[in-house]
Amino acid sequence: MAKQLQAIRGMNDILPEQTAVWSWLESHVRHTLAQYGYREMRVPIVEFTSLFARGIGENTDVVEKEMYTFVDRGGDSLTLRPEATACCVRAGIEHGLFHNQQQRLWTSGPMFRYERPQKGRYRQFHQVSVETFGMDGPDIDAELILLTWSLWKKLGLDEHVTLELNSLGDLECRQRYRDALIAYLEQHIDALDEDSKRRMYANPLRVLDSKDQGTQAVLVDAPKLHDYLDGESQAHFETLCTILDDAGVKYIVNQRLVRGLDYYNRTVFEWTTTALGSQGTVCGGGRYDGLVEQLGGKPTKACGFAMGMERLVLLLETCSLVPKELSTTVDVALVTFGDVGTYGMMLSERLRVACPDLRLQVCCGGGSVKSQMKRADKSGARIALMVGEDEKREGKVSVKYLREDKPQEVLTFEQLIATIVEER
Ligand code: ATP
Ligand code: MG
Repeated sequence: MAKQLQAIRGMNDILPEQTAVWSWLESHVRHTLAQYGYREMRVPIVEFTSLFARGIGENTDVVEKEMYTFVDRGGDSLTLRPEATACCVRAGIEHGLFHNQQQRLWTSGPMFRYERPQKGRYRQFHQVSVETFGMDGPDIDAELILLTWSLWKKLGLDEHVTLELNSLGDLECRQRYRDALIAYLEQHIDALDEDSKRRMYANPLRVLDSKDQGTQAVLVDAPKLHDYLDGESQAHFETLCTILDDAGVKYIVNQRLVRGLDYYNRTVFEWTTTALGSQGTVCGGGRYDGLVEQLGGKPTKACGFAMGMERLVLLLETCSLVPKELSTTVDVALVTFGDVGTYGMMLSERLRVACPDLRLQVCCGGGSVKSQMKRADKSGARIALMVGEDEKREGKVSVKYLREDKPQEVLTFEQLIATIVEER
């Protein structure tokens, strides 16, 4: 027997039982984005490697060790996108979307990172990525957060997530802070974990979110980013906080929140949960005012976020927030017996036209009435329609209620439609 093929580690099949939850989540996401006037954009899954190297930053985890990069037949180095912001910026520059315009955009789909697979962390995962261009905030920063907040409320997640907020200031103050942080870390170098020692010079801000306890202890007395903030960034952050306060959105200012990608400045935020172990960030983003220019466009203010769909699905399941009715996909099942030819099939077709929202499944493949009724029951349908030779002769259909204590009825097609409309 041939060796059984398997999916690649960390790349998941999403099976029919789960797609109902995904679709439900996605429809809430789409609806919320539409409420705020965001437009969908679709970008390729593969880009030139240089886009991510330049956009995300050479010294980030993603570019250093997580990218799926390959040389194609033409000799170009290509990369499966590890995130979509750089792709949106590339597309926006290429199609002139940023020229004297404001944009509110979103895109979604699979992202690829070569990480160690575990619960909530996969090699192919899905993000909804929301990006705004041409607005310098802080109102748009607040809008993005309010949008996510309104989504959490609709999903029932608002009790289960916490907003963490920080400001990274402008480039200049970040440089001054970097220098101060490096000087401090140098004094405590022996107490740092290996990763932090390695990162200390290339990307010292990343040391701030090291999970190592020794490093954490060193960081307690480290210089604080907010002591280095420039006046404008300070004011920007305060106004953002005021808007959130007025909207009743609670948050924690976390001065160690720096996020993994290099392009952020000023506002950064994360929505985190304690319900998913160490994969606790379900959504994260911030301002990236320098990225468009860095990728060859005209200077364009920008702010956005991405949410991890697998983690949101896991969280919804963990908190038992998935509506039960999602699991039923059929309202009515049709069972045929005896020599009825195409009568059952044609009746079903007419019924679907007459009741477009009805979910009607025909018990195809025949079999005894008993086995068909079993299948009808398993489908989750509330009603079984039964057609045999008598029904065919009289142009009628028998209706059996599978979940209620109601007598069986024999109805004409018109009566059937009326009954179905009434039942739903
Ligand atoms: P983490 O710190 O968990 O590695 P990150 O900072 O690398 O996250 P981002 O690049 O900001 O994550 O991506 C935004 C969101 O996408 C994350 O908050 C998370 O919900 C999700 N995400 C990121 N990497 C993965 C992954 N490998 N598997 C599943 N979801 C992921
Ligand atoms: Mg990561």
